[in-house]
Amino acid sequence: VGAIDKYGKPAVVAAARTVLAKWRDRIINGRLSPELHQWQSGHIAQIPHISREIMTLVEEKHLNSMKPVFNLTGTSIHTNLGRSLLPDAAISAMNQVAAHSHALEFDLTSGSRGDRDLHVLDLLIELTGAESATVVNNNAAAVLLVMNTLAKDSEVPISRGELVEIGGSFRIPDIMASAGCVLIEVGTTNRTYVRDYFKAIGDRTTALLKVHTSNYVIQGYSSSVSVPELSELARSARIPLIVDLGSGALVDLKRFGLPTESTVAAVLAQGADIVTFSGDKLLGGPQSGLIVGRRDLLERINANPLKRALRVDKLTMAALRAVLMLYRKPDELPETLPVLRTLLRRSDEIKAVGDQLLPAVQAAIGGMINVTLEPCQSQIGSGALPTELLPSWALCLRPIQSEFEGQGNLMALATSLRQLPIPVLGRLHDGAVFLDLRCLDNGDDLHAQLSLLTG
Ligand SMILES: *Cc1c(COP(=O)(O)O)cnc(C)c1O
Repeated sequence: VGAIDKYGKPAVVAAARTVLAKWRDRIINGRLSPELHQWQSGHIAQIPHISREIMTLVEEKHLNSMKPVFNLTGTSIHTNLGRSLLPDAAISAMNQVAAHSHALEFDLTSGSRGDRDLHVLDLLIELTGAESATVVNNNAAAVLLVMNTLAKDSEVPISRGELVEIGGSFRIPDIMASAGCVLIEVGTTNRTYVRDYFKAIGDRTTALLKVHTSNYVIQGYSSSVSVPELSELARSARIPLIVDLGSGALVDLKRFGLPTESTVAAVLAQGADIVTFSGDKLLGGPQSGLIVGRRDLLERINANPLKRALRVDKLTMAALRAVLMLYRKPDELPETLPVLRTLLRRSDEIKAVGDQLLPAVQAAIGGMINVTLEPCQSQIGSGALPTELLPSWALCLRPIQSEFEGQGNLMALATSLRQLPIPVLGRLHDGAVFLDLRCLDNGDDLHAQLSLLTG
């Protein structure tokens, strides 16, 4: 009854059904525990056993949803862990619009209906040099909307080297099919030339698409066609060139000593007519998909009914605007933008954190786990610079066989780490759980969690 007050009847009923189904299954298969035999033979007092199980399940489901975790996986922008952490400015902007009515789509001068894109339009134009821009739910939606608007029922040549799959079922051929486009594969996996595109362009071709190979590189005997070359071809065929940049950067990361990606502005300057990119990869903002480019094309894109279905809400708009504002002072980004802050953490800074933590963690759990501090390599994640690794340091946990029970000691340890009140997520490597300290903000908090580990 207490559970129903706290979690609601449907949740408790669902958990009861799950638990009872499990027991029914055991009874049917003749796998009864001795306790249940007792219960069957009249010990009704065993019923609390089942109700306790139901309670545990309800609570587990309730508590485990959206739980904060330590991301010590070594992947900074981790899609399954929510990608970019937002800057304070974005969080307070979201709080503001969440709690108050505000002029989201309302022109305060004329008193008439406005356009929600206006909150970021000028900023995006200023930061990318585009003529116009819009925002949708994520970059997958951006590609879908652009292709559906500009190339529905017609042919789009794309290099065989760029038929990308991004984790979580984003596949270029599937998106193209959903958008109603006919994908024409050109070139080969490793080499595609301008003449391949040229031969594929016909009466039914309405756009060229170039996709950033976000999570892989084709090395060795390979060649692809650059944006300037493709742009020239598109211009002569009088069709637009669309570039899906994936993790588009708004500033050149080289200025901070990171490996470079072409910026959105650079790709537009090289002649792309439309560029799409994610708001929550290298940009460091909320989940969103940004579309920037030619004004006439954006007018068509905005007029597509799909745009309404893919639009972003006020929280996203507020957060995105706040993040884009930070880009007006690019020199301060390493302090103001959490994504850059973690990517720019120097190896010696990370090691200093580890040196401080190591003795405390050893004292807490050294009896059952061998703890060391070892160099490792972090990755940026989410399809940004897949082959560029950043030197880092990790606490390495190796279970001591006799102390740590369970099947496969290492797996048991990884499971225990995930089951801590604030789960600790690392990476299995070299017979150890590596806890990469790059994304760690508070060493004391981690120490407190690790101290709760038991074998
Ligand atoms: C990540 C990525 C996408 C998908 O972006 P989401 O924001 O995750 O929807 C699409 N294309 C490329 C090239 C990407 O790297």
